[in-house]
Amino acid sequence: DEPVVIVGAGHAGFQLAASLRQSGYEERIALINNEPHLPYQRPPLSKGFLEGNGDPQAVFFRPESFFRDYRIDLVEDHVVEIDRMTRKTSFQSTRSLNYRHLVMATGARNRLLRMPNAGHDDVRYLRSLADSEAIRERLENAKQVVVIGAGFVGLEFAATAAAKGIAVDIVELAPRIMARVVSPVVSGYFQARHEGAGCCIHSARSVSAIETANGRLQCVILDDGRKLPADLLIVGIGVVPNVELAMAAGLPSQDGIVVDQHLATVDPNISAIGDCALFSSHRYKSPLRLQSVSNAVDQAKCLAARLTGKIRPFDSLPWFWSDQGNDKLQIAGLIDSYEDIVVRGDPDQNSFSVFCYGDGILRGVESVNRVGDHMAARRLLAACTTVDPDKAANLSFDLKTAL
Ligand code: FAD
Repeated sequence: DEPVVIVGAGHAGFQLAASLRQSGYEERIALINNEPHLPYQRPPLSKGFLEGNGDPQAVFFRPESFFRDYRIDLVEDHVVEIDRMTRKTSFQSTRSLNYRHLVMATGARNRLLRMPNAGHDDVRYLRSLADSEAIRERLENAKQVVVIGAGFVGLEFAATAAAKGIAVDIVELAPRIMARVVSPVVSGYFQARHEGAGCCIHSARSVSAIETANGRLQCVILDDGRKLPADLLIVGIGVVPNVELAMAAGLPSQDGIVVDQHLATVDPNISAIGDCALFSSHRYKSPLRLQSVSNAVDQAKCLAARLTGKIRPFDSLPWFWSDQGNDKLQIAGLIDSYEDIVVRGDPDQNSFSVFCYGDGILRGVESVNRVGDHMAARRLLAACTTVDPDKAANLSFDLKTAL
């Protein structure tokens, strides 16, 4: 009567528990939750939740009754050790639980800024519901905010703060914003939109010091000596996967817990999914670790299928979204290996898509306020179908006909 034990109740862990039940899994499921709330969604934490004054319940996946009704044991605890020989997980509370199958869904944590004063109370990170609640409270009185890191989360936060009339400076090490994940066309568009909303972007710059006085943050000093006054500093410099527990149990881990195409570790009784999993990508023929809701959800569904006897490799098309101010950015595929791009629509009209080609093959599509393009692109890319660049650029060409 040993349960499937799921370590971590984020997007991946929650979805796995729900999908197992939906797939008819009848045995016990234990979902280990180390946060002081019911399992919740993270995307609103840098967007709608931060903007309003809503109740935390608005971000919960499901009410408590769902877990009772579906016989999912929500265990409030933190797993501190895995004994693979006896198939036992030990908790911080000194309890322990033997498992039939163990799933690592431990996610990722914020990469920390390491410099004097980085631990000051006015320096904040945004990952958890508690982080978002604390930042939201601070935004009520903040006048000047500095954001370090122009990735999705940093920019979503910046747009929310700017909309509240707060002065926002964004500091980014790379020469352009979101450089790792979008094309220069999309970076340029969003740079103009954030500047138009009143944000000041400092690209190709780093922070050399954080100054405080009388117990409060005063300013951030850039590597060119410039001083940015601030009463709140938000750090969004990326995340690191939570692999330590797996490593201590002897499971191979690098930048993620290593799993194969079926999301299985080297131990047949242990799998890993979501932000913490470095999976062998069938589609891209390389190890990949993705940080997105779609990846967490799709991997959870794939694993639920395997644990209920429907074995198939994980091969979902990656896709992402980011809402920044009034703009919706959606990305289908990966924007990494491309040489040519084609723009469909008009950035000046705030509605366009960028088709990225490598070796003449469509690799990824970024859409800004063009949901129809994004949906068509996902189907095209999932089916490994390319679309002629001339046709892609032609707005009167219906992308669905390329399928
Ligand atoms: P997580 O959600 O990180 O959950 C892992 C859980 O495991 C955590 O609760 C952690 O505390 C717990 N855990 C870790 N170790 C242990 C342990 N030893 N014992 C018990 N529990 C443990 N993605 C998008 O696609 N679109 C977006 O717009 C978007 N916006 C985002 C906004 C914010 C502010 C953040 C932080 C992320 C956003 N993401 C977005 C990313 C997305 O939320 C993540 O990719 C997703 O949450 C990954 O799910 P996960 O379950 O793998 O990890």
